[in-house]
Amino acid sequence: MIRMVEVDKYFGQLHVLKNINIEVPRGQVVVVLGPSGSGKSTLCRAINRLEPINSGSIEIDGKPLPAEGRELASLRADVGMVFQSFNLFAHKTIVDNVMLGPVKVRKTPKADARRTAMELLERVGIANQADKYPAQLSGGQQQRAAIARALAMRPKVMLFDEPTSALDPEMINEVLDVMSTLAEEGMTMLVVTHEMGFARNAANRVVFMSDGDIVEDSTPQDFFTAPKSARAKDFLSKIL
Ligand code: ADP
Ligand code: MG
Repeated sequence: MIRMVEVDKYFGQLHVLKNINIEVPRGQVVVVLGPSGSGKSTLCRAINRLEPINSGSIEIDGKPLPAEGRELASLRADVGMVFQSFNLFAHKTIVDNVMLGPVKVRKTPKADARRTAMELLERVGIANQADKYPAQLSGGQQQRAAIARALAMRPKVMLFDEPTSALDPEMINEVLDVMSTLAEEGMTMLVVTHEMGFARNAANRVVFMSDGDIVEDSTPQDFFTAPKSARAKDFLSKIL
């Protein structure tokens, strides 16, 4: 579903993604771990071309990612993204936030888009917040709304970049629970997180990045019990 081949990315002189090769098959959940500054966010942003790459290729569902134009917009719509900051439109209600993409990009009739939006809000457990504005919701509720909004586009892949890092501790699990359910339902997911419980329980694979390299790519079991590289051992010793 996602294939990156020999991807390089520089910010000026800084080599942020170094010959990255990664494949995420349909239905797999890949957790990306690594210290701050190792290139995890850049990897996510490269996958839907929020960040241009310098060389290499990226395919979504077998189709090369076009550089720009209508084809890019259409392929991008296949890739849902959830960020650390919830990025909801402050002046729109929650249900309007969820409807917006389908109505504007997919040209879905409003009544249909609203019905689907309400179903999705039900699924993430905040249907009763539909007519409120983002600022009236807790962080956990806003992040669940952001997940519903991404799902409303019927993406083939969901990317999560530290979706719980900005949340108060008591709200982290309500977001992770929604993500775990999505994973169980077979969604293809690439998740950058520091939540090791989620990595152990929901991931099929753990990819460990350090300094722009993929240093390890293994099962959670192998990664947590027998990391191969010194860099992964060092990382784990600091967080576990
Ligand atoms: P992570 O998400 O793992 O913390 P990032 O992908 O955000 O890492 O960043 C990787 C490296 O690229 C860091 O050294 C960061 O400072 C640098 N970087 C990220 N975004 C930019 C940018 N827009 N301009 C210049 N440098 C950047
Ligand atoms: Mg980051």
